[in-house]
Amino acid sequence: MKLPSNWTTRIAVAAAGIGLLLLVRCMNAPPATTLEAPRAGYSIVACGERFDIDSPVVLWEDPDGYSAYRRGKHFADEPLDGELRYGKRPGDPQTLAELREQVHAFVLHFDTTGTSRQCFKVLQDKRTLSVHFMLDVDGTIYQTLDLRERAWHATISNDFAVGVEIAHPGAWPQPLNADMRRWYEKDEIGWRMKTPKWMKDPGIRTKGYIARPARKNFVSGEVQGRTMHQFDFTKEQYAALAKLAAGLSRALPRIRLAAPRTPAGEIVNHKVADAELRAFEGLIGHFHVQTNKVDPGPAMQWDRLIEDARRERARWPLER
Ligand SMILES: [Zn+2]
Repeated sequence: MKLPSNWTTRIAVAAAGIGLLLLVRCMNAPPATTLEAPRAGYSIVACGERFDIDSPVVLWEDPDGYSAYRRGKHFADEPLDGELRYGKRPGDPQTLAELREQVHAFVLHFDTTGTSRQCFKVLQDKRTLSVHFMLDVDGTIYQTLDLRERAWHATISNDFAVGVEIAHPGAWPQPLNADMRRWYEKDEIGWRMKTPKWMKDPGIRTKGYIARPARKNFVSGEVQGRTMHQFDFTKEQYAALAKLAAGLSRALPRIRLAAPRTPAGEIVNHKVADAELRAFEGLIGHFHVQTNKVDPGPAMQWDRLIEDARRERARWPLER
């Protein structure tokens, strides 16, 4: 049978349409294994509910995890000095719906201890503080307690924020000073991070991992009115941080994938007024919260992080 030519055209157009639809669906499809059930080892926890973020996560309850719920010290067989290292959020939210109303900021820190293992030692065992996430140099994310808890990491924002300590030696007022050189050395490829000799076990999960800054040379920039210098975070950290931010915006949608900006569109590089901070929904640096802080420093590539996180967010359905 010979179809009239307008039929042939209609069939061709319909076939092209179906093809295009399939293509669009494929482009937007989330990772196949993560839609149905969040995977162990790739999920963060908010009010007991798991959200797969498609990036390795070690939870407080895992054998090699770091737990802020622990009553004793992690690195020594000693009790903690009395108090717990975290508290309750205002109203003590018990359900995800309640938590979603309250939490609207994600605070980025650098830990100045260089590795997550050392960060936990200082934060938890020595300084009686806490933070929800630690992000190691190789991109491993550690969650130390449920996002329902009020962790102690950034003063007034603790009520309404989730925090991450990104493993990094820190920023200094002079470039390549003795402190910076204690943490970085040059080989035939370029600068690489080294852990100080006294740190016997850096605890990096990726065996043989070499931490190289995402940008070749150190970065200089103004934070809190001071010029600071630091090497960039690793590309594994940027990749994991984007996945974590995207996962948080799904778990707690008031955490928007945006950061405080000037009217000209630049990232604000100093403290934001308290009232403004309490109203802001999105990603902030510790320096946006407190005048005495410069972390995560001038090297943080906010635009890269936000663009990558938005792209990641778009791969997932709107509502769980
Ligand atoms: Zn900080």
